[in-house]
Amino acid sequence: MTRFIEPEPAPTRLVTLEDYAPLVGEEAVERILAKTRRLRDLHIVHVNSTYYGGGVAEILSSLTLLFNAAGVHTGWRVIQGRPDFFNITKKFHNALQGAEINFTELKRSVYEEVVYENAVRMHFDHDLVVVHDPQPLPLIRHYRRKSPWLWRCHVDLSAPNREVWRYLRGFIEQYDAVILHLPEYAQRLQVPQRFIMPAINPFNTTNKELSEEEIEERLANYGIPTDLPLVVQISRFDRWKDPQGVIEAFRIARREIDATLVLVGNVATDDPEGQEVFASLCACRDDRIHILSVQDSALVNALQRRAAVVLQKSLREGFGLTVTEAMWKGAAVIGGNVGGIRHQIRDGVNGFLVNNVEEAAARIVQLVRDPDLRRRLGAAARRTVRERFLMSRLMEDHVDLVSSIEARFRLRSRVP
Ligand code: UDP
Repeated sequence: MTRFIEPEPAPTRLVTLEDYAPLVGEEAVERILAKTRRLRDLHIVHVNSTYYGGGVAEILSSLTLLFNAAGVHTGWRVIQGRPDFFNITKKFHNALQGAEINFTELKRSVYEEVVYENAVRMHFDHDLVVVHDPQPLPLIRHYRRKSPWLWRCHVDLSAPNREVWRYLRGFIEQYDAVILHLPEYAQRLQVPQRFIMPAINPFNTTNKELSEEEIEERLANYGIPTDLPLVVQISRFDRWKDPQGVIEAFRIARREIDATLVLVGNVATDDPEGQEVFASLCACRDDRIHILSVQDSALVNALQRRAAVVLQKSLREGFGLTVTEAMWKGAAVIGGNVGGIRHQIRDGVNGFLVNNVEEAAARIVQLVRDPDLRRRLGAAARRTVRERFLMSRLMEDHVDLVSSIEARFRLRSRVP
């Protein structure tokens, strides 16, 4: 196997676990590094379906580098497919989150065929393979496996469509273990299920500190007015994120307060519905409702820092990294009372949870009027993220997971 050798001098410096010491303490960093040392030279690969535009890509881009920086060879592969393939996988994704689906034989055959073609091109000689979400799920059946495979699911599985679940379960049960975000997503399965919540990288473009000038510059670049308080939602253009509900809540709130709503979204390569959802919202634009379709992590960062109120009014949410990101910046966040958002926001303590448009509108009004309340919730929110949702914790959870898999499968015996 050919191994990567870092060029001297390295072109840029990678974030390492040691960088987290000022945030989580030397002791935590030492503990995680000591555990990671035991995994040195293992070769792990993650497989998903997009390099950007969504939480999975966001996590993998940071986590894989952190693992490599700590000496564990960790790769990241992305499956390829035409829009018709991703149309089908998006329907599966929606069905896993509870939507209806016209589940035809044709959909199944396109799905399985494209994954088969990817399998032919992908060669795995790793000690551990981690497959993310439903898009690449059937890869597993095309290999004579010598090492364990894990399926990592990022969607809200609180009420999956049973027909689609039954079908996908046939693939899922070929894996050695399944990792879900939350215990409440557990399903009846023949394979062990583990639960790990995601986390953010505080040093990347989305989350690093920005100066006031940098924030102003990003907002001005997109013509976002700053004369009134900003109410913001940042999400893929996806109906589960309820952008329409956000606009309705804002319109109700605006009867009582003056503010500007900014909806920013991107369109991930594995999400062909995004364009359509974006187009359906554009008629709602006015001088105080700005809707932008753009991939700009620095803009995400600037908006989360400048906003008076950040909404994530999801109807289903596997975890909701946008919530974590905003909380990290000390924003006052209003989240839909669903899925992973419920595990981040404690209502009235570090943000607000809402069940409908009217509740969201009332919280927008309350927060826009009360800067002290915003500061109090924001400070508690930042503490929550520092204690529970930074990438160092996710790294430790993954190291513990790999160690337990190693104990079960003796991965090390395969290291040359
Ligand atoms: N994101 C982004 N630009 C956008 C919208 C989202 O960079 O216009 C990023 C966002 O900052 C977060 C991720 O995409 O890191 C979305 O993750 P989340 O878990 O909130 O939702 P998902 O898209 O995975 O359902």
